[in-house]
Amino acid sequence: MKVIFLFIDGVGLRGPATDNPVNPEVCPTLCRLIAQHSVPIDACLSVPGLPQSATGQATMFTGVNAPVFMGRHCEGFPGPSLRKKIEEDNLFLRLKALGKRVRFADAYLVDSAEELAARRFKSVTTVMALTVPEVVSTTDDLMDNAAVMQDLTRETIQDRYPDIPVITPENAAAHLFSIARLNDFTLYEFFQTDVAGHSMDYTRACAVLRLYDRFLSALVRFTRAAGITVLMTSDHGNIEEINERGHTRNQVPFIAFGPREEDFRTHVKSLIDVTPAILRFI
Ligand SMILES: [Zn+2]
Repeated sequence: MKVIFLFIDGVGLRGPATDNPVNPEVCPTLCRLIAQHSVPIDACLSVPGLPQSATGQATMFTGVNAPVFMGRHCEGFPGPSLRKKIEEDNLFLRLKALGKRVRFADAYLVDSAEELAARRFKSVTTVMALTVPEVVSTTDDLMDNAAVMQDLTRETIQDRYPDIPVITPENAAAHLFSIARLNDFTLYEFFQTDVAGHSMDYTRACAVLRLYDRFLSALVRFTRAAGITVLMTSDHGNIEEINERGHTRNQVPFIAFGPREEDFRTHVKSLIDVTPAILRFI
């Protein structure tokens, strides 16, 4: 079975409210998937305080309760001990051990994984990707439409890379679908939702969610026809309470759409269960 895992940063579950941009008028496809194909899962992981990216993502991609391991929720990029934990064991390493073809579809604007490894600050997904360097997508891959930019449309890199054309979110979905057809497991990370959530700007949040929804709508059309399973979850809430600058303790959606979707939804109750469920059902 082929799986696309969409990691979307900072999107929690909350009822309708005037300051909640996650609504059917703004993002109809996301809301439909949440309503019909998701379960609410816990991102707080039994540790007080607001959930944060480093520990939330580490939990998602290792199956270890990283806030408990660290004794707290850790923001941003993982520090040395959490990095070591991710490097020892993670979803990409496990999938590779199972003989699966794995790809991290987000393009890094580098020529090689070695160049990426030399960077000082690395996100959880970067640390994980570097444990299986062949999964890393480079500038060349982006130019070949064999990788997807983190903003979907490449608009944010036009000043540095004017030769790489801007594309529509639907094109980005087509590119991701092409990558997924060549692999057993494809990860795509989108963090503009978290950035917009921190901005407390409702209009900006709506623009980001509308863009992502166009991408998602096209992607599920392609994957449904091809029998590819789409999974989606978030590391913590944020954008659904746009009047709050920080993250939220709201549950996050775990969406499973496609073959074995019910198996996935039955077995995932928190971020801890995501990696074990993928390893079990892929
Ligand atoms: Zn954040």
